[in-house]
Amino acid sequence: MSLQGIFDAAERGDWMGYNPNKCGCRGRGWFLSDVDTFHPCVYHNLGAPNPEEDHSEFDWAAHRLEVYRTAYKFFLRLARTNGWKGTAHDFARCCRRFLRTTTNPTPGDWVNAAEKLTCR
Ligand SMILES: [Zn+2]
Repeated sequence: MSLQGIFDAAERGDWMGYNPNKCGCRGRGWFLSDVDTFHPCVYHNLGAPNPEEDHSEFDWAAHRLEVYRTAYKFFLRLARTNGWKGTAHDFARCCRRFLRTTTNPTPGDWVNAAEKLTCR
């Protein structure tokens, strides 16, 4: 693929996915293309500054948590759209069955479990 082709694919967002664990931005909100250009992620940017600019004041840990919280809620909403009738607490209980670990699951583990439950 030409450099322009790589850039165009990055601009189109071919790398994006709702689950931050699987998205090309890896939940950071910016995707670094193979031609070294940064592209904002529609799903996970949430105001994250361009890594090429000054971002020393930005709270990346809070951003990351908000990215996972937003993604988890997205899968809960999707489950409800698909007919899920339970409460958010019921949803969390069912997600537990899909957690790969039972000790100290990360926010990313919860999002993966919510995606598995919703999209199976
Ligand atoms: Zn993303």
